Amino acid sequence: NAPLSEVDPEIADVLERELDRQRGFLEMIASENFVPVSVLQSQGSVLTNKYAEGYPGRRYYGGCEVVDVAEELAIERAKALFGAGFANVQPHSGASANAAVLHAIARPGDTLLGLSLDHGGHLTHGMKINFSGRLYNIVAYGVDAETSLVDMDEVRRLAIEHKPKVIIAGWSAYPRQLDFAAFRAIADEVGALLWVDMAHFAGLVAAGLHPSPIPHAHVVSTTVHKTIGGPRSGLILSNDADIAKKINTAVFPGQQGGPLMHVIAAKATAFKLAMTPEFKERQERTLRGAAILADRLTQDDVTGAGIAVRSGGTDVHLVLVDLRDAAIDGKQAEDLLHDIRITVNRNAVPNDPRPPMVTSGLRIGTPALATRGFGDAEFTEVADVIALALLPGADHEALRARVAKLADAFPLYPGLHQ
Ligand code: PLP
Repeated sequence: NAPLSEVDPEIADVLERELDRQRGFLEMIASENFVPVSVLQSQGSVLTNKYAEGYPGRRYYGGCEVVDVAEELAIERAKALFGAGFANVQPHSGASANAAVLHAIARPGDTLLGLSLDHGGHLTHGMKINFSGRLYNIVAYGVDAETSLVDMDEVRRLAIEHKPKVIIAGWSAYPRQLDFAAFRAIADEVGALLWVDMAHFAGLVAAGLHPSPIPHAHVVSTTVHKTIGGPRSGLILSNDADIAKKINTAVFPGQQGGPLMHVIAAKATAFKLAMTPEFKERQERTLRGAAILADRLTQDDVTGAGIAVRSGGTDVHLVLVDLRDAAIDGKQAEDLLHDIRITVNRNAVPNDPRPPMVTSGLRIGTPALATRGFGDAEFTEVADVIALALLPGADHEALRARVAKLADAFPLYPGLHQ
């Protein structure tokens, strides 16, 4: 039981260097966050040793009496946090959760209606080489070319025309709130089930700062590692007892074998933390940070940049920068920001004139920096640094120094060694 640094110095070096990278860069990938040390503890614990196929009290392995407690806590806390009657906390990831949802409520060949990938949807909502696109008949809705908003008239028109089995509401890159009641009304009108994938905005929902899909959807899936800031993993919720049963069967044995008990324990802790006033305050800073970013980037008089953002602003934790009319493309913008130590990802805009590996957009999110402690003043400074960096002839040395000052003011995992 020698330490990692002795057993495998190369991997020990990766851990150390990645901690350094996370400390030194400003993390603005909208789907990322920093887990608390309490979550790292469970994830690095002996719970990883335990096989526990089945569900608490109904396992296919002996010796599950202790890990059962962790899963029961995770289930009860998830239900309380989101006001749902049922929770399955076993999905290994968001994609696994989504696979289980479709396994439970649709049959191969059924028609699904979801937001197209290049308009902000997720791979698991019907991308053609994803399992979803291969197993199901996909019809996609998009966003309006002018407003960048989901056009509910188009959703209804497509639903009436194609009679989907499932309508999917949810996104990976969309800066506004969806109208869950309107989605449900359309689902009811055509006899479809409504599945909401709230992976991105679940933390905002948990904090009561975003409408909850739970009262409207037949089933809701989410990741736990984005705005919630818990361990990398998935979660499925429902208030429909019949669907709940099908979800449990679909997750195990339908999609997965042994659950990751160390991750489930960490989920329980993340859900406990999400019920605290500190969590709500962090989500408020997350939202204000994104609003500040949209505001500063688009105002000519702030930095002279006048960068376009899709839909003209944001109601959530991210901003979508539109570079269709800019001199630089998404890849160049991502590389420029990386050079001054801000991490973002390039992102296709609807009807993107540039290829997918280049793109004409950036997705910039605030959850990780809010977790790091950033407030209005720091988000204003970051927004200005980003705007200046995207201008021709930016002084990278000076901008890197401004980034370093912000990073130093909010030390990440102080005292932690990997
Ligand atoms: N659903 C949505 C809306 C997402 O944005 C993502 C991840 O980006 C997922 C599902 C998949 O999550 P994971 O990467 O954990 O499989």
